[in-house]
Amino acid sequence: MSHTLDDQKPLPTPSPDTVHYRALDGAHHIHPFSDMGALNRMGSRVITKAQGVYLWDSDGHRLIDGMAGLWCVNVGYGRKELAEAAYRQMCELSYYNTFFKTTHPSVAELSALLAQLAGPPFTHFFYCTSGSEANDTVLRIVYRYWATQGQPQKKYVISRKNGYHGSTIAGATLGGMAYMHEQMPSKVEHIVHIDQPYFFAEAEPGMTPDAFGLERARQLEAKILELGPENVAAFIGEPFQGAGGVIFPPSTYWPEIERICRRYDVLLVADEVIGGFGRTGKWFAHRHFGFKPDLMALAKGITSGYVPLGAVAICERVAQAIVEHGEFNHGMTYSGHPVATAVALANLALMREEAIVERVKDDTGPYFQFRLREAFEGHPIVGEIAGVGLVAGLQLAREPRSRTRFENGAEVAGICRDLCFSGNLIMRASGDRMLLAPPLVISKPEIDELVAKAKQAIDATARRVGMM
Ligand SMILES: *Cc1c(COP(=O)(O)O)cnc(C)c1O
Repeated sequence: MSHTLDDQKPLPTPSPDTVHYRALDGAHHIHPFSDMGALNRMGSRVITKAQGVYLWDSDGHRLIDGMAGLWCVNVGYGRKELAEAAYRQMCELSYYNTFFKTTHPSVAELSALLAQLAGPPFTHFFYCTSGSEANDTVLRIVYRYWATQGQPQKKYVISRKNGYHGSTIAGATLGGMAYMHEQMPSKVEHIVHIDQPYFFAEAEPGMTPDAFGLERARQLEAKILELGPENVAAFIGEPFQGAGGVIFPPSTYWPEIERICRRYDVLLVADEVIGGFGRTGKWFAHRHFGFKPDLMALAKGITSGYVPLGAVAICERVAQAIVEHGEFNHGMTYSGHPVATAVALANLALMREEAIVERVKDDTGPYFQFRLREAFEGHPIVGEIAGVGLVAGLQLAREPRSRTRFENGAEVAGICRDLCFSGNLIMRASGDRMLLAPPLVISKPEIDELVAKAKQAIDATARRVGMM
């Protein structure tokens, strides 16, 4: 990893470049999930380059990226192997479709490699360009499957409040983000939500995590019985909720969900868009939680974010039904794009060669979790440290011991996030939780830097709210 840019002195803020790009951006660019009025009054930070786990802005500041971009840059920034794979593929076969009786080497090889990495029961893969499209595709596959089984009335899909499944209309309907639903006058039909397994915020006082996990899982059973098992097609959930706050369910939750899905013949879908490709120290997060899904939504880490790619992993039973029942009327121009699939192959090859998942499992993951607990256990405003491998959620709380949250938790977390940002650390806030998911190649000294900066910001937040 190159650190040659470390010595670069920050330029006077804001530099002429910063002023220039901010002006163009403010005049012509609408950012995702942003209050553009407020953002334009402050001006965006212009990110100009990145290497390893570091970003640089147009004023010459170096930031440590505690979020791997948006949970995706698993192999870190600036890997030439991926750039070269894209270049070679663009020269050889820049684009061709897979609609009309054609295929190409990269998509065929990637499918075989994913079948090997995902293991049984996964045999087949369908491609798209994002996690949102992967979840749209999940719905199409689920509906098609039940139609081929002579059960077209099985069309309810159950998901969770505060789950995140993307921002297409179907993805956002599947998701349980109230603030997104508020701006969607129409939603996809036959999608219903149950409560999330968020122990810290929602368990009754005195209830154990294990009992709470079972109680929340049994809401699925109650919902299936209410709708009629003959009408329920699938349940979808993130193994751990990512955007919702890195919420780790109690260990009793997923085995019970799996039991219920099997009992009522409901397909079990794991949205592995964040959890997949090594984040937890396993290739897929469902292995950490000990359950076996029928379908997986994949994206983000599949290419380490170098180019967009999404996929759905399909178990043999569902894949065979689709293969044997004529045309499946679904696809996108860029399904199985040669450049995206070539970059995914190079990315996964690199992850294997460098044993990145093993390193997260045995070395850097445990070290990161240990350093976080050392820094924040007993901290005056930290009530929970959730996570495994290289993902963590820190619950901010006014009174950690009694699980009493701040009345203005999102505001407090916003203060913390801004303190991180001005301290050149990217840490994300979700509700009243602070999230970390650095690139999977982060080294131990870089973990030390990350945790020290996070501690500075959370200490400063505690002082700001008079708790330290
Ligand atoms: C990011 C994310 C998505 C959506 O992926 P996009 O590529 O942003 O469309 C879906 N599910 C989960 C769990 C995610 O974190």
